[in-house]
Amino acid sequence: MHLTRLLRTQQPSLTHLIDHYAKFPPTGLTMKRIVEFAREGDAKQSYLFLRNELPVRLASMMKEMGHLPPRLLDTPSVKTVNGWYGTSLHELDSFKQLAANLETVKKFTEVLQNIRKRHSTVIETLAQGYMEFSDVGPVKEYEESQIQYFLNRFYLSRISIRLLIYQHTMCFGEEVPVHPTHLGFVDPNCFVEDIIKDAFENAQFLCEGYYSAAPALEIRRINAIDPEEPIAIPYVPSHLYHIMFELFKNSMRATIEYLESKKSNSSLPSIVVDVVKAKEDLTIRISDRGGGIPRSKADKIFRYMYSTAPRPVSLTDTQHSGPTPLAGFGYGLPISRLYARYFNGDLEIHSVDGHGTDAYVYLQAVEDQASEWLPICNRAA
Ligand code: ADP
Ligand code: MG
Repeated sequence: MHLTRLLRTQQPSLTHLIDHYAKFPPTGLTMKRIVEFAREGDAKQSYLFLRNELPVRLASMMKEMGHLPPRLLDTPSVKTVNGWYGTSLHELDSFKQLAANLETVKKFTEVLQNIRKRHSTVIETLAQGYMEFSDVGPVKEYEESQIQYFLNRFYLSRISIRLLIYQHTMCFGEEVPVHPTHLGFVDPNCFVEDIIKDAFENAQFLCEGYYSAAPALEIRRINAIDPEEPIAIPYVPSHLYHIMFELFKNSMRATIEYLESKKSNSSLPSIVVDVVKAKEDLTIRISDRGGGIPRSKADKIFRYMYSTAPRPVSLTDTQHSGPTPLAGFGYGLPISRLYARYFNGDLEIHSVDGHGTDAYVYLQAVEDQASEWLPICNRAA
């Protein structure tokens, strides 16, 4: 057998692959570029970009994962996630030398779909590992901050990887976008109010199921650019939905529990949402009268696993005890903030203790300013 063929048939070791790909920085994209590529690009170009870009993003996270506390790495859940990443990295690497013909691209698209399915429960699985880790023994302060730091980077990277996969499979594969006007996973004209109402109704439905009541919604809109026009920006609808859904659930729970704690018979105050589009920012402010958050807790609310709700016994249990899988796990705010930050936006929470909370969601209204915010690998090999 020729040496080159022999080399090709042997699978490179995982460590070798991780070291190789993690050397490269990721190539961040802007919303403008993503939209243009969805309109004008083709499957082959996408293949050539992703067969390198995806392994780079996966490998840098695997490398960082290796620095986690050994006791956490040894939990079955973290091992499972590690295994998924390893398999996916190998699969993607097997395309390294393959020419961009129709057959290869088709196979690649299938592999991407499989990877997306394989990784669909990464958040829950890793959350489970973190829970096992902290339930078994005391977590030292430095371990805690190391894990929080890692999870932010890891979940952010995951958001980016999934977007790239969706853009490929929906724009150039056989998967169809949720709506015919969408460009893959992106809506070039995302009507923000529609998403807000949709998220509100679904949160309200859960809230009524749990508390037998739910606050109403009041939306106030200001389009500072074009007062008569509805507010729209190019955005990923599912990301905005996720953010709004989590914020509404929090506001509803706070509003109801605060009123109950005061033993008041007055009616539930509405949740007020202001949506304002200016030249640069699209700002959504969600104001509730749920009693607020004291300053002593304010720096904890963006921590994974910080929650004042009773924690269900295990992640799988939540499917039985409540309709929202991560309720009470303290993942709502940190993950929502990552979604907001991913395209250069942000999420801030400001409270008046004893009164209520304002959540500010900032999104980039300028599409070439909305660039992917990515964890750049910053650890030496
Ligand atoms: P979870 O909802 O699972 O508890 P989150 O990350 O969504 O996790 O929120 C973390 C914590 O922040 C909540 O448990 C609650 O104590 C506090 N919090 C969040 N939003 C509000 C709000 N609007 N009003 C009062 N407290 C809030
Ligand atoms: Mg929540």
